[in-house]
Amino acid sequence: QIDPAVFENSPVLWMNAYPWPHIDGHKYQRGHVLVVGGATMTGAARLSALASARIGAGLVTVAAPDSSWAIYAAALTSIMVQRVNDVSMLDHLLSDDRKNAVVVGPGAGVSHSTREYVLAVLARKRAVVLDADAISAFAADPQSLFNAIAGPCVLTPHEGEFGRLFNVNGDKLERALMAARRSGAVLVLKGADTIVAAPDGRAVINTNAPPDLATGGTGDVLAGFIAGLVAQGMPAFDAAAAAVWLHGEAAALFGPGLISEDLPQILPRVLRRLK
Ligand code: AMP
Ligand code: MG
Repeated sequence: QIDPAVFENSPVLWMNAYPWPHIDGHKYQRGHVLVVGGATMTGAARLSALASARIGAGLVTVAAPDSSWAIYAAALTSIMVQRVNDVSMLDHLLSDDRKNAVVVGPGAGVSHSTREYVLAVLARKRAVVLDADAISAFAADPQSLFNAIAGPCVLTPHEGEFGRLFNVNGDKLERALMAARRSGAVLVLKGADTIVAAPDGRAVINTNAPPDLATGGTGDVLAGFIAGLVAQGMPAFDAAAAAVWLHGEAAALFGPGLISEDLPQILPRVLRRLK
């Protein structure tokens, strides 16, 4: 414990809230993650979707435009794929309120349609993880994003993305806390040490992640882990802390040679040890 509300990340902080499968559970009680897939960088959304499924979301759907629908469908087996070409089609998918956690950003493109998708999800008060291009797309007007955040929301920027939304000074912990307060979202400021900060002033510092994680796609996996836990009912701050810790443990267990898809692959061994 570093300060009254700042802790080093460890399972004791969130184990009680961890959504282990229940003896009489069924898939509809384990949440449904919707990952908004992009048109060209299709690997990113696939990694997020796979990660959500591995961490226990009951159902996972990727929303994909016509141009890349077949790529997603051919590559994903336990994950559903639905066609979404514009914001009204996305909103129609969201009218099913069993889709209770959404990922937007990985491979989404820094574009007007990405902003529209983010605002449509937030307008539905759906729990959402905003990563990558969903963050960068608001660089010109961060306040329009912050104004729209009302329900559970997790932002997962690396330092570059963070700098596009927030103009704050101080050490990493102070900056993450200020950004969480300013945006109203749980802030996951990634890097060698990752800070998870809540708008109410709670924070955890995560130190278990090895540098092997510095490779393409690992952030997309993290976004999927967080959404998968939120979909299963974990509060956003606990879900973010748990996902960051599990992500680091999985990387450490895998060791050298890690590529991003190894993380969901090896996660079950980390969970088995934890349980
Ligand atoms: P992204 O920047 O979105 O690709 O996400 C990269 C992921 O890898 C994040 O979870 C980072 O915290 C993690 N990561 C990146 N570099 C390092 C590092 N040098 N040591 C530990 N973790 C890292
Ligand atoms: Mg990223």
